[in-house]
Amino acid sequence: MISYIAIGSNQATPIKQARQAIVALKALPRTQLINSSSLYSSAPMGPQDQPDYVNAVAQLDTQLSALQLLDELQKIELSQGRERKAKRWGPRTLDLDIILYGNEEINNARLTIPHYGMKVREFVLYPLLEIAENLVLPDGTALSKLAAQCDKNGLIIIND
Ligand code: ATP
Ligand code: MG
Ligand code: MG
Repeated sequence: MISYIAIGSNQATPIKQARQAIVALKALPRTQLINSSSLYSSAPMGPQDQPDYVNAVAQLDTQLSALQLLDELQKIELSQGRERKAKRWGPRTLDLDIILYGNEEINNARLTIPHYGMKVREFVLYPLLEIAENLVLPDGTALSKLAAQCDKNGLIIIND
């Protein structure tokens, strides 16, 4: 199954965290890393008293189920120092969200796929567009159309 993962970090040297996450995705069982976007810098969502984020999107080809994939992503988050805090959208060393899992629509206690925020988050849409310009969502919406409607809100590629 082709799956897209959104990577985000704004603590503990975010560029390093994002790169390390891509290495960890490469090592997932029964999974191949197909591609990953550039790293991007974005303004924080929600509480503004926190550093800017580093974001990227990775494309996987996996034989894991969506729930198995979530378990593996949460293990990577924990191994990179993610702490579960009460504050929503607060600073974190690493966030790994499943944006898409093939063409599936999944709604259960642990998973909403497509990710509920993907259609309006510039830091997901533009990195995804970079590696999947012709992508169409399960509901038939073209990714390019969503990106065209979404302000970049200062999102820039990190050149390094
Ligand atoms: P947001 O979901 O708004 O991006 P967040 O990523 O900070 O916020 P987390 O604390 O990382 O939220 O995750 C909270 C819960 O979201 C997880 O425990 C997980 O069960 C659930 N969840 C639901 N859908 C998804 C998904 N598509 N990818 C990852 N986690 C998901
Ligand atoms: Mg998230
Ligand atoms: Mg998350």
